[in-house]
Amino acid sequence: MSEILDLVICGGGAAGLTSAVYAARSGLDFVLIDISSSMGSQITQTSDVDNYTGFEKVNGMELVMKFYEHAKALNAPMVNDEVQEITKENGIFTIKCAQGEYKTRTVIYCSGASHRELGVKGEKELLGRGVGYCAVCDGFFYRNKTVVVVGGGNTAVTDALYLSKICKKVILLHRRDSLRAEKILVERLENAENVELMFNSEVAEILGEKGADGVLLKSGDKIDCDGVFIAVGIVPRSETVKSLAKLDNNGYIVADESGKTSLDGLFAAGDVRTKALRQIITACSDGANCVDSVNKFLDTV
Ligand code: NAP
Repeated sequence: MSEILDLVICGGGAAGLTSAVYAARSGLDFVLIDISSSMGSQITQTSDVDNYTGFEKVNGMELVMKFYEHAKALNAPMVNDEVQEITKENGIFTIKCAQGEYKTRTVIYCSGASHRELGVKGEKELLGRGVGYCAVCDGFFYRNKTVVVVGGGNTAVTDALYLSKICKKVILLHRRDSLRAEKILVERLENAENVELMFNSEVAEILGEKGADGVLLKSGDKIDCDGVFIAVGIVPRSETVKSLAKLDNNGYIVADESGKTSLDGLFAAGDVRTKALRQIITACSDGANCVDSVNKFLDTV
């Protein structure tokens, strides 16, 4: 039988890397598994982070590299692999990955979330040819061009602000009559000269043959553009644990600040758990709390 670890951390975003820092400092026998060699998940797609205390403004990738280097400096074991299945038998979890298998007494599950699809004609067909979900990754291709951003939350507004510095014009389409993004971001957007806000506008179809060249609204109006960025929310990556722990109606793992889920020994941290505020700083806080819960749990078994 292979070695039984104290803890496996599934996910290398803000929650996972903070868990790794706290686990290393607690002397736990653990490993962090992340599918990407660059770690960091959603943060890497964020342009300017300006609400992480201590950093007035920092690039998402830069911040995650600091988290990563911190964990590395503490000799936190981190591997690149894809977690495919988690089972529990006789108090021991088996984590099956694409390339290896781990046995552990506890798991911190912090797989984050993926972008939600808009679900309109043209979205899948033109993906990568004018349709995208990551302004930071693809914005450069639309230098001096006109782009549409769809959505009304923090991501849509942050993306629109980022693109406004690169593109000739940014049109933000939102389905309601007000944005749900933070006030400070909305104010910045309203002050950006090359951003047009269009409320009560629902997308019916993304138009184009070889590449996106417009958006058809449900009202019948057509907007010409060179690219469309979709930012209509996130979907938790909870598939792997859905038969192990209780999820809410939206697929988030039900857990409070302690990270405790409905299954003993399984803890959830970051965007994948039920919580009121999904931010980098609250994901980090979850990581710290989860390791505290893991230590308390291990004392009882
Ligand atoms: P979000 O807050 O859930 O907002 C999603 C937006 O998309 C909403 O405005 C929603 O409209 C709209 N939407 C949803 N489905 C739609 C559809 N089918 N068609 C058209 N519009 C649709 O998602 P998010 O902006 O991706 O943010 C995700 C989480 O990350 C949030 O907790 C957010 O606070 C956090 N975040 C924080 C920062 C920051 O701190 N600076 C930056 C980025 C993200 P309604 O408003 O009508 O529901």
